[in-house]
Amino acid sequence: MEQKRILITGAAGFLGSHLCERYVKEGFHVIGMDNLITGRIENIEHLFKLENFEFYNHDVTKFIHVPGKLDYILHFASPASPIDYLKIPIQTLKVGSLGIHNCLGLARAKNARVLIASTSEIYGDPLVHPQNEDYWGNVNPVGPRGVYDEAKRFQEAITMAYHNFHGLETRIVRIFNTYGPRMRLNDGRALPAFIGQALRGEDITVFGDGSQTRSFCYVDDLVEGIHRLLMSDYAYPVNIGNPSEISILDFAKEIIALTGTDQKIVFKELPKDDPKQRQPDITRAKEILGWEPTVDRAEGLKRTYAYFKSLSPEELSTTAHYNFDKYIIR
Ligand code: UDP
Repeated sequence: MEQKRILITGAAGFLGSHLCERYVKEGFHVIGMDNLITGRIENIEHLFKLENFEFYNHDVTKFIHVPGKLDYILHFASPASPIDYLKIPIQTLKVGSLGIHNCLGLARAKNARVLIASTSEIYGDPLVHPQNEDYWGNVNPVGPRGVYDEAKRFQEAITMAYHNFHGLETRIVRIFNTYGPRMRLNDGRALPAFIGQALRGEDITVFGDGSQTRSFCYVDDLVEGIHRLLMSDYAYPVNIGNPSEISILDFAKEIIALTGTDQKIVFKELPKDDPKQRQPDITRAKEILGWEPTVDRAEGLKRTYAYFKSLSPEELSTTAHYNFDKYIIR
């Protein structure tokens, strides 16, 4: 059988790097692409020696040229944490609009199937709970998260348009909070923030009163769901996430118990438009893909903690700073 060739944008990011590993293991020829704004080359360096992996340092908002055939394109390039949207709002908008347009054009030229990384953020601060794919969302376009949420919504719309108008094979995954090794310590997300604080002996910063909820999915489960969706024939959005919901305050307590530290919890201002609740309804993924998560939070957190513990003191010292006054970070 001819070797499949797959382009993965955002290859050096948290999810991109895990996807590169997965498709290298599947025996595909993997072309990783990243401009390394938020991605880290260390995440994929171990793949460089492999014959079936190559890396392009390229900004996908510029014309993309890939020689040879392509069977699949996974568009995972994008800043993906609130602190990153504040730091680089214009790039966030561009990668979700110009970047996907280039990917879809490339897919047409190569007759490739495209899967795009969408997000539970398209549901905004949801008024329906849990969120199923038929819910249209409650997004503030001009708030701090608007640059990400609206880019991702546009991305879904243009992907459906290429599917409907050009007959392109497309897949849309709506990714809920995901965690695991290689999350960036300075991306401001709850999990790396809490683990980093515990390992550095700092107070744990819970935003608001911590009653807001999230549902955390271990990265290996997510990758399996994405793979099943890519291989399916389903073009409409599918939620992939772990429905096990927890308040952020309880999550902080779990991290303190996990790290065996004795950190104090301190409460900080809740960032603007921070969703109050989030939990995926995964009925569609179960029915269409036969998928559901298999790694529970206790196990996933153990594996993730092992990764963070292995980092050097210099790496551990990187941290994020919210600016609660301005919602602009330069
Ligand atoms: N959060 C927190 N302390 C932190 C970082 C985040 O309490 O140091 C909260 C944040 O306000 C949100 C939740 O944890 O309510 C999850 O945040 P994350 O950035 O991980 O994901 P998202 O808000 O995009 O779901």
